[in-house]
Amino acid sequence: MTSRPEIGVEIAVIGGGLVGAAVAYGLIKKGLNIVLLDEGDSAIRASRGNFGLVCAAGKGDKLENYAPWALQGVHVWAEFAKNLIAETGIDLELEQNGGFVFCAEPPALKERIEMMERLRRKSGLDFEVMQPAEIARLMPGVSSNVAGAIFCEIDGAANPLKLLRALHAAISATEGALRRDARAERIERTSGGYRIITPAGVVTSEKVVLAAGLGNLGLAKWLGVRLPIKPMRGQILVTERYEPVLKAPSEHVRQTMDGTFLLGGSWEDVGYDTSTTFEVTRDIAARAVRYFPFLEKVRLVRTWSALRILAPDNAPIYDEIAPGAFLVTCHSGVSLAAIHAGKVAGWIADGALPDEAAPFALSRFESSLPEREVAYG
Ligand SMILES: Cc1cc2nc3c(=O)[nH]c(=O)nc-3n(C[C@H](O)[C@H](O)[C@H](O)COP(=O)(O)OP(=O)(O)OC[C@H]3O[C@@H](n4cnc5c(N)ncnc54)[C@H](O)[C@@H]3O)c2cc1C
Repeated sequence: MTSRPEIGVEIAVIGGGLVGAAVAYGLIKKGLNIVLLDEGDSAIRASRGNFGLVCAAGKGDKLENYAPWALQGVHVWAEFAKNLIAETGIDLELEQNGGFVFCAEPPALKERIEMMERLRRKSGLDFEVMQPAEIARLMPGVSSNVAGAIFCEIDGAANPLKLLRALHAAISATEGALRRDARAERIERTSGGYRIITPAGVVTSEKVVLAAGLGNLGLAKWLGVRLPIKPMRGQILVTERYEPVLKAPSEHVRQTMDGTFLLGGSWEDVGYDTSTTFEVTRDIAARAVRYFPFLEKVRLVRTWSALRILAPDNAPIYDEIAPGAFLVTCHSGVSLAAIHAGKVAGWIADGALPDEAAPFALSRFESSLPEREVAYG
């Protein structure tokens, strides 16, 4: 241990996925001396296996304060993207041409409209209800065999892999700020803050940010805290390239800028199993073809799965779980990347969470925390 280098920083951020990288990027912008520690594996973590939606629609269903927060997050995305692209030269492929939520059957559409109306009262998020003929004007090729769709003008999508690459590039511009192969194996409290043990050396910091996705389950234990998050698998299918036809994404089908279609939308409570299954990929493809019949003739080229990091109410958790130790975790790390780099990094830099963060505190789950911890890995 003594032969390994020891570095000291103001803030150590643990986890180099979209959440940790966005926070670390924001902290650097605020002039803080930080290090981002990442395990550096090549597994398909959520940040590398997601659908890339930048969206507010439907967020806050189980925690209403999440609705205005998600809307703010989407509002600040374009400015965030502009700055990150200018710094790194990496095009994030952000498109905010609106987003759809398709409903196959009338009862599902009715339920969705009621939910969106409730969320609009809370956040002001505007939406339209579209019938198949109206959808077809924006999205030629849509089936008349859908009940309708919710359309939110503010929603869109970005390329999540390029987002992650750009954040890492921007962070790496500060020498030594991004440490790969630096899995946090242990966190110890010291009189001046924290001591983090990694295979690459020991890091001492005044503050620490736990932003390691499902890895936070194990990390929080070092601070004596149990977390209610769990994995929720999603499978994604990607097709061959096709002429540009879909102007706006939905949670089940979107066309990327290079022409491929991403098909997804499965939610499977199967623990840490990251395999893909015939039944689920078949159902995802069938639903996509139901919405867009022309997809039947478009070839699939690849499937993968990744694990969402899910709290019981699907909303983020922001909390100071020990003095100077901040927990940042969420399901929608693409949609919230800009606000994580902005407001959330600002809160951590200031060293205190404001009232605005209170609805996202861990204490909201006090009665539902697991009896036993489930360690990751
Ligand atoms: C199928 C699917 C579709 C999705 N679609 C969308 C979408 O359309 N829009 C959207 O906004 N969000 C979407 N998400 C969610 C989004 O991908 C996640 O919210 C986000 O990627 C979470 O990022 P993270 O950094 O918290 O976690 P991860 O991506 O899991 O990253 C955690 C990082 O921490 C590192 N780590 C773990 N333990 C340690 C340790 N002890 N020490 C150091 N490093 C450690 C890991 O190596 C990893 O790099 C989707 C997720 C899935 C699975």
